[in-house]
Amino acid sequence: MQIYDVLIIGAGIAGLNAAINLPKEKKVLIVCKENSWDCNTFYAQGGISVAVDKDDIKAHIEDTLSAGAGLCDKKAVEVMCSEGRDAVDLLIKKGFKFDRDEDGHLLYTKEAAHSTNRILHAGGDATGREIHLFLMQNNPHPLMYKTTVVDILKEGDTIYGVRVYHQGKFKNIYTKNLIIASGGIGSLYEYHTNARSISADMQGLALECGCELRDMEMTQFHPTVFVGMQKARKQLLSESLRGEGAYVVNKRGERFLFDYDKRGELSPRDIVSRAIYDYKQKHKDDTVYLSFENFEKEFFKHRFPTIYYNLKGLGFNLPEDRVPISPAFHYFMGGIKCDIDARVENFKNLYVVGEVASTRVHGANRLASNSLLEGLVFPIRAIKDILNQEQNFPHKEFEEKEEILFKEGDKVLKNELRKIMWEKVGIIRSKKELKVALNRVDEILLKDIGKLLRLRLLTSKEIIKSALKREKSLGAHYIKE
Ligand SMILES: Cc1cc2nc3c(=O)[nH]c(=O)nc-3n(C[C@H](O)[C@H](O)[C@H](O)COP(=O)(O)OP(=O)(O)OC[C@H]3O[C@@H](n4cnc5c(N)ncnc54)[C@H](O)[C@@H]3O)c2cc1C
Repeated sequence: MQIYDVLIIGAGIAGLNAAINLPKEKKVLIVCKENSWDCNTFYAQGGISVAVDKDDIKAHIEDTLSAGAGLCDKKAVEVMCSEGRDAVDLLIKKGFKFDRDEDGHLLYTKEAAHSTNRILHAGGDATGREIHLFLMQNNPHPLMYKTTVVDILKEGDTIYGVRVYHQGKFKNIYTKNLIIASGGIGSLYEYHTNARSISADMQGLALECGCELRDMEMTQFHPTVFVGMQKARKQLLSESLRGEGAYVVNKRGERFLFDYDKRGELSPRDIVSRAIYDYKQKHKDDTVYLSFENFEKEFFKHRFPTIYYNLKGLGFNLPEDRVPISPAFHYFMGGIKCDIDARVENFKNLYVVGEVASTRVHGANRLASNSLLEGLVFPIRAIKDILNQEQNFPHKEFEEKEEILFKEGDKVLKNELRKIMWEKVGIIRSKKELKVALNRVDEILLKDIGKLLRLRLLTSKEIIKSALKREKSLGAHYIKE
């Protein structure tokens, strides 16, 4: 029986950064659902936040706590902001190239709710893609594509491995340590910015396995996505655009955000999302646009090449044309509860890193560009913890069970769930609508459905239950009283 030292679920920044920091001699396997680039990391545009120097750590902590609206774990935030610089420097030392000016100095930009310029970027607005490519190129361990984890093999407080579905077959994979790095929950929502593979099944499995899920109502919506496309995954228009001078306007060119918050375009993303959502509800005959009138063409093309060329392909000539926008689901602050070494409570050998983890570094609202940083810092801590443990775990074989992953009719119900989540568990919530959502999710759970849909429903149910428990609005969770 093949037993890995470490099995990593997910090939985004968190999973791959764990892998590249594990010595070559260790037996490591990474699994991911589709192709390796089908992950949120690949789509990250704006950049990665990091304290510019030692003096800036305090301000970075304060900005993060302030965005988190009182729900952050201060210790976890201190860890992320103070160890972030080393984690980023390690990446640079390994050869990663962030954008620099002509004299070779790192270029830092600003994003909403940061008190200073501390966002590093690469390839202009292709930071995630560049980091992902770099980590893939430097990963010394095997990676199994098109492999969906469909169960966690455990007994008591010990994890023995996972069951996967790969090329039409089920297979058990055994490990001494399991790291879950499976990302967020985007595909639960009708409109979202996430990769296709990000569909909340691991959160459902974790729940079944006995892990505690925390802050599940804390879902962040991105204020500015291009709405004129059919796919559920919408083209994101990075917040750096507003940070560097793009305006949100109505069809008459009026900047209405100041009616909602004195910081206008530089307000935190949940305020901008709600403002645009509210404006659209109140002015159904109007359209909301992102306007780039302040940008020079050559600068724009160089600084935001992904957005420039993607939108060009859709018929827009930037920065001259303005682009119709809407908010969409974007990021999940909640997740599987863990400590600052990424350990999951009550398990000997289970770790969780990246967007799927609830370290509470984001609290009730994530500060822009802190998630890539989280994906660099905490996997390094998890690896240190694993390498410091005595690796004398017992081994056990589990039955090679078949599972029914899909059933006829699942697709219709899955789409219904996505509509429910967008309309009733979205940007503006009410107790009444949340209860309607909960009842319908319970009804669907009683139907004859496949396992993957059931896992999505279990995660959705936790989100709705947490939203119902929180009486007052906080951070990204906004409830009409
Ligand atoms: C459009 C967009 C732009 C963003 N821009 C920024 C930004 O500028 N700065 C920033 O800090 N953050 C940004 N974010 C957020 C950030 O990209 C993510 O939070 C981060 O990349 C998550 O990394 P991760 O490794 O946790 O998960 P991901 O990169 O999403 O990877 C998850 C992996 O888990 C695998 N997986 C999932 N379920 C299973 C399963 N059941 N079995 C096997 N494998 C599974 C997937 O296949 C995938 O490989 C952005 C997000 C999006 C969507």
